[in-house]
Amino acid sequence: MSVGPVGRLAPSPTGLLHLGHARSFLLAWWSVRSAGGTLRLRLEDLDRSRVKPGMVEACLRDLEWLGLDWDGPVVLQSDHEGELYETALELLRLGHAYPCICTRREISEAQSAPHADQENSVYPGTCRGRFKSLEEARRVSGREPALRLKVTRGELSIQDRLHGEFCQDLEREVGDFPITSRDGQVAYQLAVVLDDARQGITEVLRGDDLLSSTPRQVLLYSLLGLKPPSWIHVPLVLDESGERLAKRHDALSLAALREAGVKAESLIAWLARSCGFLACGPLSARDLLEGFDLGRLKLTPVTFDGRARKEIEDSTQS
Ligand code: GLU
Repeated sequence: MSVGPVGRLAPSPTGLLHLGHARSFLLAWWSVRSAGGTLRLRLEDLDRSRVKPGMVEACLRDLEWLGLDWDGPVVLQSDHEGELYETALELLRLGHAYPCICTRREISEAQSAPHADQENSVYPGTCRGRFKSLEEARRVSGREPALRLKVTRGELSIQDRLHGEFCQDLEREVGDFPITSRDGQVAYQLAVVLDDARQGITEVLRGDDLLSSTPRQVLLYSLLGLKPPSWIHVPLVLDESGERLAKRHDALSLAALREAGVKAESLIAWLARSCGFLACGPLSARDLLEGFDLGRLKLTPVTFDGRARKEIEDSTQS
C-alpha cells in the first residue's frame, strides 16, 4: 500500500497549455513522484461556456510530451456533476447556503478558478436571509437562483508549505460566494473541494494565484466534515511585460513551442533552473527526480522573455 502523498494535475480544457502549466505540473509531478506517491489527472470541464473542442486531447498530448504520467483513469469533472449539485443542495438544507438572484455576470464568473486579476469584488450580502427556499426565490423574482455559501466571521488561517501562514477575513475580503450558478452548474470552489476529496488528494500543488481561493475551500472542507489536503502554491510564469501567462498567450503554448522545434528536455531543464534546481543541458522530467527539494523553490515569479527563449532554443540545437 502506498503511503506517499496523493497529488493531482487539474487542467481545464479551455485552451492550450502553456509554460506556466508545464512548470506547475512538473513541480506537482516531482513533488509526488520523488516521495513515492500517487498522481491523479482530472480535467476540470464544468465551465461549458469556456471548454473548447479538442482541448482534452491536446492536454493529454502535452503531458505525454513532457514525460509526465499519472495513476488510474483520466477523470472528467463533468462525469460527477449530478452528485456535486446534490452536495450544494445539502449545504442549502443545512443552512450554510442560500438562494441568490444577483447578476448573471457575477455568478457566471464563479465557474472557473479565479486567476489573479479575475477575482470578484466583495459580495455585499444582498440575498442573505431574503428567501426561505429556492422555490420562493424563483416565485418572487421570476428567475432561476444561484446558491451562495455564507462565509464565517473572523480570520481564517491556512498553512501553505511555501508561503507559510496565509490569513483571510472571508467576510471582509470575499463575502458570501457562489457554489452554483443560476443555470444550475456547480461553481469551481465547491467542485474542486469535492473532487479532490473524492480522489483522496492529500497534496494540492498549483499556481499561487489560487492561494486566495484556499480559505474558501478550507471553509467548505470544514462544513462538509472533510479533511483538507496540504497546500503548496507555486509562483507563476510571467511574459515579457510582466503579465501572468494565460491561455491567450497561444504563441507560448507548449504546442506552439513543440511545433517550433523546441525539445521537451530543453524546456524542462530551463523550467527546472527557473525553480532554482541544478539542471545543465537537456534533461527529462525523470532525470530530475532524484534530489528534488521543494525547499529550493524561489518564491518570486519567473519571466519568460527573449533571453529565456534563446536559451531553450540554443539548448535544443546543441
Ligand atoms: N482547473 C483549474 C485551472 O486550470 C485549476 C484548479 C486548481 O488547481 O485548484 O485553472
